[in-house]
Amino acid sequence: MEKINRRKFLGLSALAGAGALVAPQTAMASVKGETAMVEKQKMAIRTLGKTGLKMPILSMGVMRADNPAVVRAAYNSGITFFDTANGYQKGRNEEMLGEFFKDKDRKSFTIATKVHANLSSNNFETEYEEQMNISLRRLQMDYVDVFYTHAVENVGILSDPRLIKMLKKFKKEGKIKHIGFSTHANKPAQIDEAIKTGIYEVCLISYNFKLGILPDLDAAIQRGVDAGMGFVAMKTMVGGVEDAEGKKQVDGAACLRWVWQNPNIATAIPGFTSFDLLDNCLEAAYRPEIDEADKKYLAGLIDKNELLYCQNCEQCVDQCTKNLPIPTIMRAYMYNYGYKHASLSKETLASLALNGNDCAGCTGCTVNCSSGFKVAEKIAAITPIVNVPSYFLS
Ligand code: SF4
Ligand code: SF4
Repeated sequence: MEKINRRKFLGLSALAGAGALVAPQTAMASVKGETAMVEKQKMAIRTLGKTGLKMPILSMGVMRADNPAVVRAAYNSGITFFDTANGYQKGRNEEMLGEFFKDKDRKSFTIATKVHANLSSNNFETEYEEQMNISLRRLQMDYVDVFYTHAVENVGILSDPRLIKMLKKFKKEGKIKHIGFSTHANKPAQIDEAIKTGIYEVCLISYNFKLGILPDLDAAIQRGVDAGMGFVAMKTMVGGVEDAEGKKQVDGAACLRWVWQNPNIATAIPGFTSFDLLDNCLEAAYRPEIDEADKKYLAGLIDKNELLYCQNCEQCVDQCTKNLPIPTIMRAYMYNYGYKHASLSKETLASLALNGNDCAGCTGCTVNCSSGFKVAEKIAAITPIVNVPSYFLS
């Protein structure tokens, strides 16, 4: 299919979409200083579990975006769900969204944010609530629609009574409408734990065609859906680039179409940062059915070791003589070399107490990665970033 570039997108009239559709309407779009009449095209909409929130299958992961004009273009294109976090860009990401949405009809969009739960702190409750309130202040909002506990790694956190008490309190106070969690690790077990607690309504998970645990994960997602949970997909584009040098972009449209084949995924939040990447995502959303060309392309990527996405299968952790947290280090590698987001990479590593020379002393790497990564090489290439002053990093 011909790619829809920005100029063509602006000129296109409403065309048929698929499934339940966002009603077409005409909107004013101001992009790169230009103002144009945009006939919104149709995007299929799905419901986010028992939250009842209805949203297009395409949403915006705002994490790396720092240009409000891209947010505006997304909003004017009919995207209604925007995903941020307390830690993104040291709070500037939430501030940008707050400035953008402050004069918008609150019913015209939904916002999700995330806060890490540091349960090892003696002051967990105070700190967690403080960060949630800081997020609301930055967003200039009385409430967020979805509040995630951010990047839950280990089983046991979601059912911690202190966390549950705080989440219920936030909801009772009206500061959060729906309770969720995000996770890259131990996903089937986390979903089952969340179901047991009965309080989690939304799960944000890494979900893409490369995952080796798909049958188990899809079965867990189905159990979650049966229990009323809504699912949002992230990391859909497996790191964003096809080659180790990070020069060739992954075809995001094919990746998204693969994700949307699963009707249990309500929406996906690709992290587009430019108009061209937004257009690529919209192209997918306007024609969401996967075709043979997409399948062939994705099949060709399955065995590409150069892809930057670590599946978080954790097989490497026990193989490493130093028990390094390799999956998280690989995620930091992807943030830097795939997303070109060096500061996020450093932030991710900073919490791991690494020294920048972490494989030193090993005579030969004992790790055999299921994705074919040369793990020690990647560790050597990324961990020194912890010693780079933040003001040098993008
Ligand atoms: S080289 Fe690094 S990753 Fe490999 S076993 Fe040693 S410490 Fe672990
Ligand atoms: S074995 Fe490879 S894919 Fe699996 S968690 Fe480790 S680095 Fe990631």
